[in-house]
Amino acid sequence: MSTLDAVQLTRDLIAIPSASQTSNLEVSDYLTKVLEDTGFEVERLEYVDQNDILKVSLIAKKGEGKGGLGFFSHSDTVPGAKDAWSPFEPLIKEGKLLGRGSCDMKGPLAATIAAAANLSSSDLEKPVYIVIAADEEVGFGGAKQITKHSETFKRDGWPDMGVIAEPTELEPVHAHKGGYFIDVTAHGEAAHTSTEKGRSANFKIAPFLADMAALKETFMTDAQFQDDEFNPPTNGFNMTLNDYGCANNVTAAKSTATLSVRSMPQAHTKRAVQLIRDKAEAFGLELATRGYDAFHTSPDSKIICLSLEATGATKSVAVPYGTEALVYQEHLPLVILGPGSIAQAHTIGEYIELNQLERAVAIYQKMIKNYCQN
Ligand SMILES: [Zn+2]
Repeated sequence: MSTLDAVQLTRDLIAIPSASQTSNLEVSDYLTKVLEDTGFEVERLEYVDQNDILKVSLIAKKGEGKGGLGFFSHSDTVPGAKDAWSPFEPLIKEGKLLGRGSCDMKGPLAATIAAAANLSSSDLEKPVYIVIAADEEVGFGGAKQITKHSETFKRDGWPDMGVIAEPTELEPVHAHKGGYFIDVTAHGEAAHTSTEKGRSANFKIAPFLADMAALKETFMTDAQFQDDEFNPPTNGFNMTLNDYGCANNVTAAKSTATLSVRSMPQAHTKRAVQLIRDKAEAFGLELATRGYDAFHTSPDSKIICLSLEATGATKSVAVPYGTEALVYQEHLPLVILGPGSIAQAHTIGEYIELNQLERAVAIYQKMIKNYCQN
């Protein structure tokens, strides 16, 4: 048995920089020690990312048997932006803890560990898991590795249900938007414009782009592409362009437009993606689609009821931002529930309110007590 203070643990974690652009090895080693010291069995998963940087994810379990309750976090952050403030020197001021990751999400992560730290394995009828992924901010690499390769989950199965501890100001969230990206590429031939020998990929893709501008109008006005459970109810249809830095006096060899839509359960996302693909195919353009369906848990499900009971909230809500629930949701029912405000995530001067952190520990403890203890 040990006691562990969520505020102190958050401070310790902030002081170990772990922006996704660097390795999270040091913070993961620290977390491994904290978890082992508080009675967790820890599995480590590692990979080397596309920039040859080592990334570590942790799957920690306390208690015997199968099922139970999982708490899901990530140990990476967005970059510190050192020139603007002191991101890695945690500071307590006016009831707030400042520092990079305080809110997204070293604070919430610390609260999940603190909630389970004082329990001994024999207190638990069902196990508690703390899952900490690498690279949440840059493509969910850690979470994807966990779903494919965790020996713990292969051996014991997934927990019965889980909490994604991302900041929601401790309001239970049962749904958020997902997202699809469609890369549409035109090929031309590069040549100096003095020769008239080139073919511009940009001219080739232009008519398709005009159609996309018209489609934006459709998505903004046609109710079948919207979902009133969300605010805004629209799919955030966006387009970015890349001609790979082609010089002004050269015809572009390649031009890519990336279209994106945010998926929502009722917004006919597949149909929206198909409309984009049909247009691209009609112009003979190259196509690649990637993405995720929306996150959705039934508001009547056990995990939502458990979180309503623990928070005292009367109903769960839907939010417009995304989390790793997109990756995990096919394995277990989830709620998004964590301390701090998403408005603080990724900001200069990022902070979490101390009373949110403390309340989170109490709420997570209640959920563990109500589901995993006798
Ligand atoms: Zn986050």
